[in-house]
Formats: sequence, C-alpha cells, structure tokens
Amino acid sequence: MKSTKYPLSWKKKEFLIKIFCSIPNIATGILIKAGKANFVVDPGDGILRDLNKELSPEEILKISNLFITHGHHDHVGGVWSLLTYMRVMNKKSPLNIHFPKGCVEIETIHGAFQKVYSGSLSYTITLNEIDGNRKLRSKNVNIKPFPVIHREYLQDGVTTRQVPALGYNFSFDNMKICYGGDTAYCDELVRHAKNADLAIIEAGHEDDDEHNDMHMTLAEAKSIGETAREYFLVHVPE
Ligand SMILES: [Zn+2]
Repeated sequence: MKSTKYPLSWKKKEFLIKIFCSIPNIATGILIKAGKANFVVDPGDGILRDLNKELSPEEILKISNLFITHGHHDHVGGVWSLLTYMRVMNKKSPLNIHFPKGCVEIETIHGAFQKVYSGSLSYTITLNEIDGNRKLRSKNVNIKPFPVIHREYLQDGVTTRQVPALGYNFSFDNMKICYGGDTAYCDELVRHAKNADLAIIEAGHEDDDEHNDMHMTLAEAKSIGETAREYFLVHVPE
C-alpha cells in the first residue's frame, strides 16, 4: 500500500471521524463529531472546501474546538480561512484553539488574525497552549493530549530540530479515537493507541527499511495500529 484513498471515515453510534485528507507536504484535514459536538483537527489547506461539502454553514459555525498537532503547513494551512469564514458568517459561539506550547505558527496566525479583525469579530477565540498532558473536557468529550517525537530540517537540509508536537486521544461514550499526528515511533503513541477503538497512525517515512526521528515506516506504523481495535494508516507519501 503506497497511497490512501480519501476521505476515510469511521462511525460508531454518535461518534464519527472523517479524514478528508492526509498527504505529506500537501494537506491534512479532520472532522470529529461526537454527539452534538463538532471538532476540527489539523485544519490544513482545503479544510473549508471539505467542511462545506460535509456540513451546513450552521454546523460549521458550531465548531467549538480546533486541535493542532504541530505547526507544519500541511496541518495548519487552513486556519486563516476557517477563522475568517466564521467571522464572515457571523459565528457567535466561542472557539477554542488547542496547540502545543511553542507552536509559533498558530501564535502568529492568530496574532495576525486579531490584528486585522479584532474590531469586527463576532466570536471569541481562546488559545489553549498545551504544555504537558493534562486532560481536557469539552461537550462530553474527554481529550488527552500526549507528546510525540517529530522533527524538521533546518536551512542546511541536514540538521534537524524537534518541533512542538502532540497526539490526541478523544474519548466519547466509552469509545476512544487515537490520533498520533506526525510522529516517529515513540512510547507515548504506543501507549495511547493501545486498545483504542480507532487509531490513526502516520506512515510518513519515505524509506521503508530505516527508522528515523521524523516519521514512521509502514512496519512501525502497522505494529502500533494493530494494537488498536481498528486503525487507519495516514500521511503516507504518494
Ligand atoms: Zn509535520
């Protein structure tokens, strides 16, 4: 398997996840519905187009929480469009944006957005910078962030540095979805994916044979996925 066909969907009772897209360097976009709650995870480029196909404008305005795993463009490229759409459509309910501490991309996008629109904004935005793995609860959903290992290249194309990066477990109605975001093989993900009803695991490493500290090989990703009841492999290079 080298290419995943999107969207990927999973639904049990009132708990639904739809992965519109998860292509390395292009875009990610994920919708979670849990009872009456609408959450968006990693709103990459095209998220508004995909949400617009899936939800009514009223339902898009009901989105209460954005969860960001890390600041790479393929995971946050749609944030500006989404925030602006909500303003244009006169969203009234508050929006929470959860992101890893030190994610300068979200801080900067939000800062620029406030600079342009703070005088004409119909809804409030609360930033929740996540440091550690304290549990959150919103709309009957328990959310457990956990740190993962993900790196990026510096200008020289050789040296890498760790970026602030999280995975999230979403629990609702005695079911659990684990989304690891972009990550190398790591114990935190192993622990959080185990026995999940659905695990969404990246297999983003180009080379199938060799472990690295940016992404997982197919074999690594599968070995984690198989500890959950069901799993999707995402972020596979195309
Ligand atoms: Zn990344």
